[in-house]
Amino acid sequence: MKSNQSRRNFLRLSALSAGFAITHPLSALSVHDTWNKKRGKPQKVLILGAGMAGMSAALELIKLGHEVIILEGQSRAGGRIRTLREPFPEGLYADMGAARIPEDHEWTMKYIKEYDLQLQLFNPVEGDYIHLMKGKRIRYNSQSPASLDNYPVNLTSEELNMGWTGISTAPFQELVAKLGDPKAMDWPPQSISGYDAYSLKEFLKQSGYSSEIADLLMIGWETKLGMDMSILEVMRELSLSFGAPRYKIVGGNDLLPTRMAGALSDHIQYGSKVLSIEQSENDVVVHVSKNEQNKKFTADRVICTFPLPVIKKMEFMKTLSREKQRAINELTYWDLSRTVIQVSDRYWKKDNLNGFAATDRPMEIWDPNYELDSKRGLIAAYAKNDDSQLMDGWSDKERLDFASGQVNKAFPGLMDHFEGGFTKCWKEDPWALGAHSIGTRNQMTDLLPHLIKQEGRIYFAGEHASAYHGWIQGAIESGNRAAKEINSLE
Ligand SMILES: Cc1cc2nc3c(=O)[nH]c(=O)nc-3n(C[C@H](O)[C@H](O)[C@H](O)COP(=O)(O)OP(=O)(O)OC[C@H]3O[C@@H](n4cnc5c(N)ncnc54)[C@H](O)[C@@H]3O)c2cc1C
Repeated sequence: MKSNQSRRNFLRLSALSAGFAITHPLSALSVHDTWNKKRGKPQKVLILGAGMAGMSAALELIKLGHEVIILEGQSRAGGRIRTLREPFPEGLYADMGAARIPEDHEWTMKYIKEYDLQLQLFNPVEGDYIHLMKGKRIRYNSQSPASLDNYPVNLTSEELNMGWTGISTAPFQELVAKLGDPKAMDWPPQSISGYDAYSLKEFLKQSGYSSEIADLLMIGWETKLGMDMSILEVMRELSLSFGAPRYKIVGGNDLLPTRMAGALSDHIQYGSKVLSIEQSENDVVVHVSKNEQNKKFTADRVICTFPLPVIKKMEFMKTLSREKQRAINELTYWDLSRTVIQVSDRYWKKDNLNGFAATDRPMEIWDPNYELDSKRGLIAAYAKNDDSQLMDGWSDKERLDFASGQVNKAFPGLMDHFEGGFTKCWKEDPWALGAHSIGTRNQMTDLLPHLIKQEGRIYFAGEHASAYHGWIQGAIESGNRAAKEINSLE
């Protein structure tokens, strides 16, 4: 969400908050929890969705001897983790969904290790990065940030002297000290719930700082929605992961779900679109459309991992409690799109640039294969909310032209090497209907507890039902939490 350098600065913030963390009984499931050593009463479980939440739940329940079937609408597993390899030449590839894996995401790291996958730093150490703000191109590198004087924002001289580290820590220190345990399912504590009404800008202003500090901290993400994020969601993000280095899986992030799906091949029913879910006192019935025929599955328990915009459109929504319906209806989702452009030459390297940039459009740009030696390459343009919505209804060519124009501003000369490209808009994906959840103002205090609560025989998992909104980590943690809930039934 922030530049490489400001991310590093947030390390201090994370370290600071860790000192104040308290263990909370309702805390998110820890990777060290030993619940899966002993089986509870055997259950017949249907898991809806073969994304990371569904598959991690399945793997744990199967190990314990429960009977599990996963119903997946698509012909592949992995959901919002998707790597594009075709038709790129020379072994080039790009992740169109989940891209970065923070080092301290221990759930994700646990599965990466278990499936013997290799990691590579997401951000290059070598070469210069670009910040593009109000048309100004600012260079910096992984060793030294650009001086704040270079940025076209109105900061006081005192703030300018604080540097990146100062502006990304000082305004938040008092709030960090009161955070408690941001992984707790009933977080935030009452003592800070009032902050939920503040966006980052409003928080800075009321703390006596220039609100334009937010423009710097949010570069690459400065959308109306980004600016409307609850300061509590921002603080939770910072304290849970923002300082850590980020990685990607060598060969593409979808190798993780692909290997997990391999281990679950006898349990996943692909091409099974879930139409409706009904529960009685004794069982749950799931109606599915498969190969143009309707089928019915019956189980003791169901784990539903569908993204909320998908659940919202299902009739079964109306059978849920009022609080659950409100939480599903109201939690905000980002609109995110990624355009990948193939170039005959990674021309930016000649100018000692590494192909990474963040702009105030808002957009992030990166070379997904910076570590490969090939002359030919890809460059990815990652459009956030306002820019992603701008592309609604556009043709593929119009999207490509728009993304190319933005890349060209950061790395002039693109069209001399342009070979073609693709755009993936997650809102248009019928199995997601959005990118991922995000707590905007006033949503943190009253929606979150309802998202994870079971409803009768139906349990809920998915990134939205965790403390890690928009992360693989949240999907896995929530899958394990739902599996634990079912395994502990008497
Ligand atoms: C653009 C983008 C960028 C991201 N960046 C990162 C990142 O850098 N790092 C990170 O860790 N995470 C990132 N994420 C988030 C991460 O991808 C998700 O948090 C995680 O993959 C969600 O897993 P899930 O199991 O909760 O849901 P999903 O992966 O969405 O799984 C749900 C499954 O349900 C299936 N399904 C839906 N409807 C039906 C139906 N009616 N019938 C049957 N099956 C159905 C879907 O096909 C899907 O397989 C990003 C996501 C996006 C979209």
